[in-house]
Amino acid sequence: MPVVQVDQVHKRYGPLEVLKGVSMAVERGEVVAIIGRSGSGKSTLLRCLNGLEPIQSGRIEVAGHVLDASGRGLRALRKDVGIVFQSYNLFPHLRVAENIMLAPRVALGLSKRDARARAEATLAQVGLAEKIEAWPDNLSGGQQQRVAIARSLAMQPKVMLFDEVTSALDPELTGEVLATLEALARDGMTMLLVTHEMAFARRVAHRTIFMHQGLLHEEGPSEALFGAPRTLELRQFLAGGL
Ligand code: ADP
Ligand code: MG
Repeated sequence: MPVVQVDQVHKRYGPLEVLKGVSMAVERGEVVAIIGRSGSGKSTLLRCLNGLEPIQSGRIEVAGHVLDASGRGLRALRKDVGIVFQSYNLFPHLRVAENIMLAPRVALGLSKRDARARAEATLAQVGLAEKIEAWPDNLSGGQQQRVAIARSLAMQPKVMLFDEVTSALDPELTGEVLATLEALARDGMTMLLVTHEMAFARRVAHRTIFMHQGLLHEEGPSEALFGAPRTLELRQFLAGGL
């Protein structure tokens, strides 16, 4: 059973059709990169997978939760699907520990002690155990993004979605966040990541999907997709042309 199963999903914003019949599946433990031009629908696809955007038709099943155009089943789904965006959005008035403990406390009803234990464990996972009492403002952008990842992991999601999580960072800070993602991948986390980091996608993702104009235009094992792109559109994209 795939962890993520997407069948013929159509998504419109008013007259603009952004997803034009997207189908895909992600197996447990698989790391899938999504690449493509700005505006091709990558973020919309991730947002639909997490139920942040309703779909007009088709079917999405994530971690056993079914989403269709009715919008039922959202709450349960979001507990099992973590999503991290380009902007990390930590709560500035809460310390790192409380940032991470909040959702497990509120959404899962964990005790303070259990939530704290999760904060400690997930911070260790992203290599920031010593920052548990820090204020977000006192962390670098890369560290804040790693805390945001830890915060998502604290819900013990079955799948993690990452939308250009290094794009807002200075180049010297992207490496530490990519290393965190790579460690997660190595630990067997099921991951879908939208990224501009082509070398990273090629090396770390088992499979890469190239989105073009609201469709999955080409996909395959990362090494093959980057090494021998079949379609003109992907070749042009990888060559950096418009
Ligand atoms: P990508 O992440 O690949 O850059 P997006 O999924 O963000 O692409 O956007 C795909 C298309 O949908 C773009 O044309 C964008 O302008 C449009 N779009 C995205 N979000 C909205 C929205 N909330 N309302 C209207 N149009 C949107
Ligand atoms: Mg986007």
